[in-house]
Amino acid sequence: MKPAPIDSQFEAAIEAACPAKRRSRQALIRWGARVVSVGGDAPVRVQSMTNTDTVDVIGTAIQVKELAIAGSELVRITVNTPEAAAAVPHIRDQLDRMGIDVPLVGDFHYNGHRLLTDFPDMAQALSKYRINPGNVGKGDKRDRQFGQMIEAACRHDKVIRIGVNWGSLDAELLAQMMDENAARQVPWDAKQVMYEALIQSALTSAACASDMGLNPDNIIISCKVSGVQDLISVYRALARRCDYALHLGLTEAGMGTKGTVASATALAILLQEGVGDTIRVSLTPQPGEARTQEVVVALEILQSLGLRAFNPSVTACPGCGRTTSTTFQELAKQIDDFLRAQMPIWRARYPGVENLKVAVMGCIVNGPGESKHADIGISLPGNGEAPVAPVFIDGEKALTLRGEGIAQEFQLLVENYIEKRFGGLLA
Ligand code: SF4
Repeated sequence: MKPAPIDSQFEAAIEAACPAKRRSRQALIRWGARVVSVGGDAPVRVQSMTNTDTVDVIGTAIQVKELAIAGSELVRITVNTPEAAAAVPHIRDQLDRMGIDVPLVGDFHYNGHRLLTDFPDMAQALSKYRINPGNVGKGDKRDRQFGQMIEAACRHDKVIRIGVNWGSLDAELLAQMMDENAARQVPWDAKQVMYEALIQSALTSAACASDMGLNPDNIIISCKVSGVQDLISVYRALARRCDYALHLGLTEAGMGTKGTVASATALAILLQEGVGDTIRVSLTPQPGEARTQEVVVALEILQSLGLRAFNPSVTACPGCGRTTSTTFQELAKQIDDFLRAQMPIWRARYPGVENLKVAVMGCIVNGPGESKHADIGISLPGNGEAPVAPVFIDGEKALTLRGEGIAQEFQLLVENYIEKRFGGLLA
């Protein structure tokens, strides 16, 4: 049989590797004129959470602003005490005064039923409530207290997230499921029971909320665990068993490289399968690290997968023995920092600039080739090469830079390119 042409083989392989995004219900999370859609055909949304004391109105508002400017489309704040609940409308006012319309999500545990009932202004100022079924109450209080939170969501027309976490899984449900498992002829593995308990907790709570009158479109679900393989197993099952929008994240991912890699690994596999409508990267900040790092990582995950574009990308080679100079590293960092710093202004001024690709390469081996694949790229001189740096624009060699001012001149070329291409001056 004649083999299929290379192109169609390639396309079929791509299609098999990148299934369409799972079609879920779409939740609309609103504040003022701002509407953030989650699920359905909306792009995968990025969210984050503050680590300030919510009672500190100014400190919390400033951190929410930083997270929003970094790219967080929803920001969650802890609402754990009456004082925190009373602070929420003031945080919202402060954000509105600063022109920050990012919707706020309230994180409730143990006393959310009381706070949402006793502080209606807080319930109104939030755009979404996170409810943890494992921390709603025990015994006969559980249903009543859960019901009070759902009533508040219905009254104020808010979206909820049923956020199950295996660190606070409903103990009664887990015990009951363990007993049922013990009675099976062939009992499941304990981990399987745990997965099922997480999913059951989320789905039965969602069904309960829906029975109480909450629009199912206003329900988002998460089942967070801290192990990569566990998260993949749980979310694959969850995605098959419901059509609620899914909040995806590896809980307690950890610090630095470990937390970043673990989150990226787990989220990338699921997102590639079309699972996940909104993501949060739960990084533990390293001492002195900005809280916004979790947003930076989330944006990079989505951009690396080609699901969304937020910032121009800078391709740089890792360097090797062919270049002992650190010029290309410094230039790549300088250009990357510069582009990121400009983006809050450029996003509005230069529509589409987030798709820009810049290459900064260390030597002639891959330098010219990689630079031609970028919109604008430079190939710096490696050891023993002539001290010249060819610059490629739109795939063609455009000029050669020489001397001490290469870095500054290249940055200027990048700025000019952006102005021409995205400022509407190029045909
Ligand atoms: S482009 Fe040159 S310097 Fe950079 S990694 Fe490749 S061979 Fe090494």
